[in-house]
Amino acid sequence: MTDYYNLLGVTRNAGPDEIKKAYRKLALKYHPDKNKGGSKKNDELFKQATEAYEVLSDPEKRSVYDRYGEQGLKGSGPGSAGFSNFDFSDAIEVFMRDFGGFGNLNDTFGRRSQNPRDRPKPKGETIKIRIKLTLEEVYSGTTKKVKVAVLDPCPNCLGNGTAEGSGPVSCSQCGGSGQQRQSQRTMFGQFVNIGVCANCRGQGRVILDPCSTCRGDGRTRIQKRIEVEIPAGVTSENFITLRGKGNIGPQNGPRGDTVVLLDVQENDKFIRDGDDLCFELPVTFSQATLGAEVEIPTIQDSVPFVIPAGTQSGEVVRLKGKGMPELQGKRWGDQLVRIVVWTPDELSEEQEKIYKTLRSIEKAAPERLNREDISSVWSRVKNVFS
Ligand SMILES: [Zn+2]
Ligand SMILES: [Zn+2]
Repeated sequence: MTDYYNLLGVTRNAGPDEIKKAYRKLALKYHPDKNKGGSKKNDELFKQATEAYEVLSDPEKRSVYDRYGEQGLKGSGPGSAGFSNFDFSDAIEVFMRDFGGFGNLNDTFGRRSQNPRDRPKPKGETIKIRIKLTLEEVYSGTTKKVKVAVLDPCPNCLGNGTAEGSGPVSCSQCGGSGQQRQSQRTMFGQFVNIGVCANCRGQGRVILDPCSTCRGDGRTRIQKRIEVEIPAGVTSENFITLRGKGNIGPQNGPRGDTVVLLDVQENDKFIRDGDDLCFELPVTFSQATLGAEVEIPTIQDSVPFVIPAGTQSGEVVRLKGKGMPELQGKRWGDQLVRIVVWTPDELSEEQEKIYKTLRSIEKAAPERLNREDISSVWSRVKNVFS
């Protein structure tokens, strides 16, 4: 049976200040940060001294201990709550609570998960999803509701990974440090490798009694509905990162991200070339020759369009600002209308007669077309259409 008074080296009549002073002296002597990462023996002495201090510095616990001894605290009597399984990480917490840390304690020692100053837990994985978008949706920008299979805290253990009533305990292999020291003898001398503890995978905590639903991982997969804001003007090369919307980390670790890949579908009317939209307008011989007024579609709705008299096949007309919006910009691209003369492959008797009459009176076509005016635009657009 442990004698807490003896452990701290104080008498049974010692007052609170005396107890605190005695503990502080011992704690500083055995504290792992004062011992270059600690040793099993020092860690144990540190834990024992802290346990004694935790009991004797609390009037209620102390009176239970005085009357019933250790059993009174760890059994079902008054004051027993929260005082079973006092371990090394609890000891570190008590010390931090009453005396503060030495600076790098957070990095070195694993402590209970409820503690906000806890060592960083592994982050959840990033989820990748793909969203299909129509050109019309890209034009206006949109909000997409999608279902994502995401890892969420296990409802049975609320993400702790432990069976009901138990909690993670300090890893016995590494004493809660999450590190494993391995010494290696070589011809150059002895080397000490500090690696990640294999037993707790560097967490400093292990789960002895895992939750039956998630087997200690603390996570279950659920279908979640998320809303993704798609800004106007995106392309398939863009992606959107939703910070903290990915899988939750094991045992309530921080969430990863969700990366939304965009898949802009081809449009049956328009071919997108950067912020410009290319549109092909077939016209008849007479429309090209005499000119005409027609209605053509734009990505938004439709606009009246004038085919100038004497339009050559392949000529391109630029409609300013009728293209796609620039991503996060204030300007719009253009709609390029390429006029192509459609040649009928079937003629009525009357049409044939008229075409034959036309042939007998028309001038021969020039040897080559003077297309200076359109060639610069066309050569660029040609690549898009081919
Ligand atoms: Zn669980
Ligand atoms: Zn460990």
